[in-house]
Amino acid sequence: MAESAFEHLRARLADVVDIRGAEYLLKWDQSTYMPPGGAPARARQRALLSQLAHERLVDPEVGRLLERAEREVADEPPDGFEAAFVRVARRDFEREAAIPPAFTRAFGAHTAATYQTWTEARPADDVARMLPLLERTLDMSRTLAGFQGAAEHVADPLIARSDFGFTVAMLRPLFARLRATLVPLARRVQACEAPRDDFVRRTYALDEQFAFAAARVAEFGYDMRRGRLDPTHHPFAIEFSIDDVRITTRGRRDYLVEALACTFHESGHGMYHQGLDPRLEATLLADGTSAGVHESQSRMWENRIGRSRAFWSYAFGPLQDAFPDQLADVDAESFYRAMNVVRPGVIRTRADELTYDLHVIVRFELELELLEGTLAVADLSEAWHARYEEVVGVRADTDRDGVLQDVHWFAGPIGGAFQGYTLGNVLAAQFWDAAVGEHPEVPDDVARGRFDTLTRWTRERIHRHGRAIDPLALIEQVAGGPLDTGPYERYLRDKYEDLYPSAG
Ligand code: ZN
Repeated sequence: MAESAFEHLRARLADVVDIRGAEYLLKWDQSTYMPPGGAPARARQRALLSQLAHERLVDPEVGRLLERAEREVADEPPDGFEAAFVRVARRDFEREAAIPPAFTRAFGAHTAATYQTWTEARPADDVARMLPLLERTLDMSRTLAGFQGAAEHVADPLIARSDFGFTVAMLRPLFARLRATLVPLARRVQACEAPRDDFVRRTYALDEQFAFAAARVAEFGYDMRRGRLDPTHHPFAIEFSIDDVRITTRGRRDYLVEALACTFHESGHGMYHQGLDPRLEATLLADGTSAGVHESQSRMWENRIGRSRAFWSYAFGPLQDAFPDQLADVDAESFYRAMNVVRPGVIRTRADELTYDLHVIVRFELELELLEGTLAVADLSEAWHARYEEVVGVRADTDRDGVLQDVHWFAGPIGGAFQGYTLGNVLAAQFWDAAVGEHPEVPDDVARGRFDTLTRWTRERIHRHGRAIDPLALIEQVAGGPLDTGPYERYLRDKYEDLYPSAG
């Protein structure tokens, strides 16, 4: 019997996934152990592999095989593997094939130059140098969005690249509602006396911090036989296959919270990928269904578990065993409180749980205004500072800690890169409520250092499907309703009014 078009297509797309895996391995090495001298050749090698993967995906033969494969699977169940495989392959093919190769080359060159300039302009606090480049990025971002055809909002196609199905019309009211709840809550908490946290700023050897964090994420269910943990500058999780999913972390000798939060966070991303159905191996379905759903998994382990009273009632004992001198005068409750000190600052990646989303809201609002043309690039620096005062309640002294602080706008399009962070927090709360609704023993389990019920639940409901279920459908299915900020607002209010009773 002749091989089906489906099988041909599958073999071709497996090459795309494997070339990407090779590129990711080069990226992992670059971010962990590569000597600095390797940078120029590595940039070349990675660009070549990305281009090869792209060319294999948009090959006209893939288009022909897709048409035939779509006919072949027309009678298969719409929620089955074959139908999902073809649906997602069609979506990725159309999205990538719509972008002219000349634009991809021009945008790649522009982005590389912008990123290089940013690495110099940020330490020099030289925002003026970045403005003409940003102007061009904004222009090209609109062009990139336009290739995807008509959209209600210019940002919609950019958002769909990472959070498929989400639109500005859905997200804007959601962010506005969150802002209306969080800004006054953060202000009330800020006015209260902060609990003691001097002890997290004592001296902690980094190796011992990493060893403690690695032991905890192994207990969560991150499989070290199919993964590993290494230090880096900007932590991330990355996968070369379902059975080789690595996480990275960073820490500071004089601040114990950072390595814990980063490692717990990345373990959530790692477990998502390790939990994929093995059948998805080397297919386009072998990935998280969206940036927001991915982030819901990392935020759950970082915050719902890693900053919870239940978890520290268990984990403080092992922590004290690891650092007996530094923590001799501290108890579990004090440590829990120290992990949750609210101190509004100007840097997103150092934000506490309560004010984190305020940083995201500022960026989401500003990038929409830029794309709409209601904010000029020339006015961006001042708009940033003014919006920070209004939303976060602080103002940076410099542009380095203002508009230049995140790499996102200087290494890719403007639009679509930030909403996933806050979607992750909102979804983590909805998913948590669903998990605990079904398994009321989960919080008690966490207090005993048992995580398997929760891990099994997330694997069964979320992880194993990969991209086979689209994000909006998955949310309906797992949370039993649409995207809703209510559970997240309640969680934050309950937690922080308990920690800061006079904020109630
Ligand atoms: Zn993350």
